[in-house]
Amino acid sequence: MPATPRANEPELSRRIEAMRDEIVETLRGLIRIPSITGDEARIGAHVADICRAMGLEVEIVEAEPGRPNVVARWDSGQPGPHLLLNDHLDMVPPGPLEYWTHPPFDADMADGRIYGRGAIDTKSGVTTLLMAIKAARETKLPIRGRLTMVFSCDEEVGGALGMQHLARNGYLDGADMAVVAEPTSLEVEIGTKGRLHLEITTRGIATHGARPWLGHNAIDDMAEVIRELGALAAELETRTHPLLGHATLNVGRIDGGTVPNMVPNKCVLGLDRRLLPEEDPDAAEAEIAAILDRVKARRPGFDASLERHVWWPGYAIDASEPVVRAACDAVEKVIGKPPVVRGKDAGTDASWINVLTGIPVVMFSPGDGFTAMNADENVGIDDLVTATKVIGQIVSDVLGQEA
Ligand SMILES: [Zn+2]
Repeated sequence: MPATPRANEPELSRRIEAMRDEIVETLRGLIRIPSITGDEARIGAHVADICRAMGLEVEIVEAEPGRPNVVARWDSGQPGPHLLLNDHLDMVPPGPLEYWTHPPFDADMADGRIYGRGAIDTKSGVTTLLMAIKAARETKLPIRGRLTMVFSCDEEVGGALGMQHLARNGYLDGADMAVVAEPTSLEVEIGTKGRLHLEITTRGIATHGARPWLGHNAIDDMAEVIRELGALAAELETRTHPLLGHATLNVGRIDGGTVPNMVPNKCVLGLDRRLLPEEDPDAAEAEIAAILDRVKARRPGFDASLERHVWWPGYAIDASEPVVRAACDAVEKVIGKPPVVRGKDAGTDASWINVLTGIPVVMFSPGDGFTAMNADENVGIDDLVTATKVIGQIVSDVLGQEA
C-alpha cells in the first residue's frame, strides 16, 4: 500500500518520508551482507555501527563466540514506559540459485521493489526499526521512559543463542510491551502457533534386493507410519483456535535406502507439527509415539525411534492489550484505515519474548511472510517507508511526552 500523504503529518513522519532514499539504501546494504543462520557476525557488526552512529548505547551479547545479539538502548532518564523493539539478524538460505531472476544478495531494484534473500524476512523489518529510531533521534523526539532495540541471531532455528538467551538472562527485563518486526503485510499479528520438529527413524535388515524376503524393509515400515500420520493430520484440522486456525502436521523430509537393488535398513523422516498455544508439546509427541506403537503391534520386526529436534512455543495475547491498541492506532494514523488483527502460522521470536517473560508482543512489518522464503523475495519500497512511519508512530505514541 503506498504511503498516503496526510494533512498535518507529524514531524517524525515527514522526516521518515524525507529519508526514503536512506531507508532504501539501508535495506539494500543489509541484503548485501548474507546472514544465513550461524553467519551473523558481519551483519551484527553492521547493525551495531548504525545504532552507535545514532548515539544509542550498544551492547553485543554473545551466547557463543561469533553469534552476536545487538542490544541498543535509548534511556530518557525520565520515568515512563519501556518499549522493546525486536527483529532478527539471520535468514534462511537462498535455495537453488536458478530460481532467482534477481540474484539473492545483489539487492536489485525494479518496479518500486527491492529484491533479495531477507528482503522481507526480516531485513525490511530491521530497516524499519533502525530508520524509525534514527528519525526519532534526528528530530529530537522528546521521549519519556526508555526504548530497547534487540537484534537477535539464531531465530530461524529456534533462537537458543538469540532471543531465548536474551530473555533468560535479563536483557528484556522491565519492558512493558514489545513490537517484533516480522512480516505481517502491514497488518497486526498477536499470536503464533507453536512448532515441534520430530524425527522418526525406522530400522530394518539390509540384504540383496533380489531376495527381499531375507531382509526387513525400513522404507516399507515408514510408509505405514506415513499413512497413520495422514490420519492424524486430518484429525488435527478439528483442533482450532479463534486467531490461529487449526493445528497441523507436515511430513517435510524423508531419507532412506542406498541403491535400488538393496533392501534398506534405515529410513529417517522429519516432521513439522504446528501446535495451538494451549496444546502441550509432550502430549503432541506422545501422539506420534502412540502411532509408532500401533504400527509395531501389527508389523512383525518393526523397529522405530522418535527424537525431538525443535520445540518453539506458540503464544496469543488479548486484542485488548495496550500494545495491540498502540499498534492499531499507529497503523490507522499512518495508513488511514485500521489493520486486521490476526495470528501468524509461523513461529517467531515473539513467542519466546511472551512465553519466557510475559511481555505482551505484537508483530508488524511490511511484506507477506508466506512469500518470504521464495526465490525472488522482494518488498515494495512504499510499504517499507509506510511501515517505518508506523514504527515511528508507535514510538512517539508510547514514549512521547504528550502520550
Ligand atoms: Zn523471520
